[in-house]
Amino acid sequence: MEFENLLKLVQEEPNIEICEALLLKADKYDRIKKLLETAEKIRDEFFGRNLKLDSFVYPVKKCVMEKYCIYCSNYVEKFRLESLKLEEFCLAIDFLKDCGAEMLTLEGGYNEDNSQLIEYVKISSREGLDVAVDTYPIRGEELDVLRDKVSEIYASIEIAEKELFQYFKPGESFDFRLKLAEEIMKRKISLSSTVLIGLPGTDYRVWLKALFWMKKLGVKHVSISSFQPVLGTPLEKFYPLPSTKVAKFVALARILLKESDITACGSVNDLSSLPLMLLAGVNRAYLGPYVCRIRSKTGFADEVDEIFKPNYEVKFSNNLVFVNPFNAVEKVCKEFDFEVKQ
Ligand code: SF4
Repeated sequence: MEFENLLKLVQEEPNIEICEALLLKADKYDRIKKLLETAEKIRDEFFGRNLKLDSFVYPVKKCVMEKYCIYCSNYVEKFRLESLKLEEFCLAIDFLKDCGAEMLTLEGGYNEDNSQLIEYVKISSREGLDVAVDTYPIRGEELDVLRDKVSEIYASIEIAEKELFQYFKPGESFDFRLKLAEEIMKRKISLSSTVLIGLPGTDYRVWLKALFWMKKLGVKHVSISSFQPVLGTPLEKFYPLPSTKVAKFVALARILLKESDITACGSVNDLSSLPLMLLAGVNRAYLGPYVCRIRSKTGFADEVDEIFKPNYEVKFSNNLVFVNPFNAVEKVCKEFDFEVKQ
């Protein structure tokens, strides 16, 4: 089928086969341009040219599991970070508020103990911040406690095939994620979900399955995360996706999920993918102010300057780093006629 017909069908009566065919045929400049322009137009119609920044604090739970996910930095023992203590968390909240943040995501690893998480949600909510929770597991009774205090909870499908999910995430349960998503929706809490693209051995079909699952559930926020190899993991030798392939998938996600918030890559320490993601239809980015435990010397790069780019406002205090990328993000957005909101 012609590319133009596929593009029309994806907008009118999409299914996985049609979407896959479209992505495979988007292999020339004029086709890629058409795909991105279609997505951009939809984003502009539903959200305008506004980019909302997500702030976060990491980690609010230390990842503790028998078998770590084989792509994750936590797979490598020296990269595992202790969660923020109460007084550190309160400093983080003060910083985010000083930066003008209105929302934050509480990020953390897998840990059965949610007592501190619930306390941190309460503190953030009391401080007037919208709170998203992105950490597992969360049980039904905890959702009941959290439902009035959070703006979003993540139940990330990540890898939409059970066997593959289990292979990459041997310590977690695919069925639990599906059940969690249903429980979140049942309580009328806004659902966020991450799809992980580019893992070796996965393809458009697996990624698309996740998008269709999200569409069916009525997800509020889709986060598209592109695999980045981490030294010391079994996947360290594999390559990340080319940015054009990511952009094509993001554009397709925008066409499928017109009214959902979409964040994609553009991530924490890398502004370079943001322009392409704006062209592909995102309306949110994980580029708000954030507070993290420092990874220097034991982290992805050995030098702090390599991790925290010099064009961000950065300060270090004890074992934490406080980062505000706002000015750097705004500069990029201005070139694309976008207004930045926190
Ligand atoms: S549960 Fe999350 S933090 Fe822990 S190893 Fe898996 S991906 Fe990493």
